Order: sequence, then structure tokens, then C-alpha cells
Amino acid sequence: MAKVYVFLGPPGAGKGTLGELFCQDSGVIHVSTGQLLRDEMELGSDLGQQVKELISHGSLVSDEIVAAMVAKRLAQPDIKARGVLLDGFPRTVHQAEMLCAILSENGGEMAAVLLIEADETMLMDRLTSRRMCPNKQCEAIYNIRTNPPRKAGICDRCGTALIQRSDDSEETARGRLKVYDEQTRPLVDYYEGKGKLVRMQSGDDAVEVNYKRLKAALKQ
Ligand SMILES: [Zn+2]
Repeated sequence: MAKVYVFLGPPGAGKGTLGELFCQDSGVIHVSTGQLLRDEMELGSDLGQQVKELISHGSLVSDEIVAAMVAKRLAQPDIKARGVLLDGFPRTVHQAEMLCAILSENGGEMAAVLLIEADETMLMDRLTSRRMCPNKQCEAIYNIRTNPPRKAGICDRCGTALIQRSDDSEETARGRLKVYDEQTRPLVDYYEGKGKLVRMQSGDDAVEVNYKRLKAALKQ
């Protein structure tokens, strides 16, 4: 019986890194919907053809198509044996209901939905810490928390004053956190209602420390 894990977490909380560690450590297979879409297109399957059509017209891929791809992947023996961490699905309650239907048809089980929570000040700090050298011949990238230049605000390589791109601005970061919050809350409520939600607090600590918290939350 396939065991399914889903991780939810705001940008900057370390969801990607923790997911990768979890898969390495537990043998659970990481499946992202983006990769599934690319694989189907490459295979040239019926689904893949449909996806190609839609993307070439600039249309969104429907929930039904994504769910069909997920169902197909979840039915494969490696996933049945090892379990799966789903990445990018479900994003909405409608998708969560579709996943529930897939699992009851295939005999799979939702093992846990892990909500990674983090302090907003820390997230803002992380999301706004990138600096870039605007010199077109250089374009070095720094991170004032993890990879700062030797002299604050100045590029080590060429001496140009560093800039912060609008992608990394406080305004953009606040917007991303707000969008995450609005999109995720209904899903959190949905899984909490089903008794599948577990929470962990991601702190500004080493990855290993946060990973221990993850294992404790999942009781593994
Ligand atoms: Zn430079």
C-alpha cells in the first residue's frame, strides 16, 4: 500500500531541503508534478500530447490532467513499495479531494501532511538577503546571511556597489508570504479536519537540527 507524504511550508522555511533529506534518509520517492509533466511530454503519451497542446496555447493544465498523471505514477510498483513525497500537488482543496479519491481507488494511504511553520521575521530575513553585483561583466551573487562580501555592500571581485533585485525586496517577500498563507490555509484546515496534519517549527538552526524536528513530528 503506497504511503503518501505531503509537505507544506512558506517560502524560506527550508521545505525543499528538508524534503530532499527526508527522501534520502527514508527511501521515500520524491515526485514533483512539474517533473511528471515534463516526463509525460517527453514520452509523447496521450496525456503528454494534451499537456503540450495546452502549454503551447499558454493555457493552464487542468486539475484533471495533473490528477491523472499523479494516479498513473502512484500505481507504479516502486512507489507502492517505498512511498512517495508529493511535491506541487495538492495545492487546493479540490486537488486534495482528487488525491483522496485516487488513494481510495488504488489502495494508497495518506501517511501525513507536514506543515512546516516558521517565524515571519526569519522568513523575511532569508527572503531578502540576496545581493547582486550590477556590473554586467561580473554579476556575482551574495547572500548577506550565508555568503556575505568581505566589505559590506561591495563586490569582492570588482569593487562595484551591490544591489538588491526587486525579486528579493521586502515588498516581494511580503507578497509571497501572503499568497502562500491565503492559498495554503484551506488545505491546512482540510487535512487538520481529517486528522492527517502534523506541524513542525523550522528554526534558524542547522539543517540537521530542523531535520530532527521533522522526524520527531512524523514520529519516525
Ligand atoms: Zn562584481
